[in-house]
Amino acid sequence: MQFSEGRFEQLRDGIWRAVLQPAAVNVGLVAGSTGALLIDTGSSPAQGARLRAAAEQRAGVPLLGAVVTHAHFDHYYGLAAFDDLPTHGHESLATALRADRVPVEAAELGFAPDDLRAPNRPLTLARLIDLGGRHVEIVHFGPGHTAGDLVVIVPDAQVIFTGDLLEQSAPPAMGPDCHLKQWPAALDGILGLVNEHTLLVPGHGEPFDRVLAFTQRAEISAVYGQVEFLIGQGVKLEDALAAGQWQYDDATIAAVLPIAYAQLASEGKVPRPTLRLL
Ligand SMILES: [Zn+2]
Repeated sequence: MQFSEGRFEQLRDGIWRAVLQPAAVNVGLVAGSTGALLIDTGSSPAQGARLRAAAEQRAGVPLLGAVVTHAHFDHYYGLAAFDDLPTHGHESLATALRADRVPVEAAELGFAPDDLRAPNRPLTLARLIDLGGRHVEIVHFGPGHTAGDLVVIVPDAQVIFTGDLLEQSAPPAMGPDCHLKQWPAALDGILGLVNEHTLLVPGHGEPFDRVLAFTQRAEISAVYGQVEFLIGQGVKLEDALAAGQWQYDDATIAAVLPIAYAQLASEGKVPRPTLRLL
C-alpha cells in the first residue's frame, strides 16, 4: 500500500514494515484480530500523523498504540501524533527529550521542540500487549545502542523488531550515547529467543535471519574487546586505529574510538606507558 512517505511491505501474516526518510528507518506494524501496534514513528510529528493514517488503513483494525524503540530522532520524533493512544517507550525517553541536541535536530527537521512528546506509558523492563489472537512483548534487555533500547517480539510469527541494536544496511551506529560494553549482553537477550525460522527486523536495512545477528553481536563485542586490549597495552587513542585489528572499516572505527576510550576511561581504564624493565 502506498502513502506519501513510502509503502507498507508485508513481512509475515499481519506484519508489515515501511521505510521512511530521512535515514531510511524501518517502521513496523503488527495487527491482531482486534487491534494493531506501530513500532517506531518517523522523524517529525507531521510525518507521524501521515504514518498513523496509512498504518490504520493498512492494518484494517484500530491502532491500539505505538512503541518507540529508542530515543533517536528517526524513530522517536513522530510520537506526538499518537499521544491520544497509549504510547510505549523506555522510561529514559522523557529525559532524552531534554538533551542539547533535541532543539537543534527539531530546527533542522522543521518543527518546534515543544511539539515533541515523550511516551505516555513509559516502561522499565517489559510489557505485553494483546492485539486479539496475537500478543506482542516489548522488552528492555539493557543498554546498548542507547540507554533505553526496546525490542518488540511477535512470538506467534517469530518476528523480532530490534531497533538499532542491530542494523543491516551499515555497521551498528556506535554513537556517543551507546553503551559499548553492555551492548553484547543486550543482544544476548535477543539471541536467546531466535531459531532458524526467526525474522529479525533491524532499525535500518533489510530483515535478516539469526546468522547476521550472531555475527554482529561478535563484531560489537570484538570492538570493545580490542579497545580494552589496546588500552591495556598502553596504546594511546591517536595510535589505536593503526595498532588494532578491527571488524569494521576505518571510518567506522575512527568514529567509535574516542567514544570507546572515553567509556573505558570512566571505568578507570586508561593507557599507561609501559616501562622497559632492565
Ligand atoms: Zn538509533
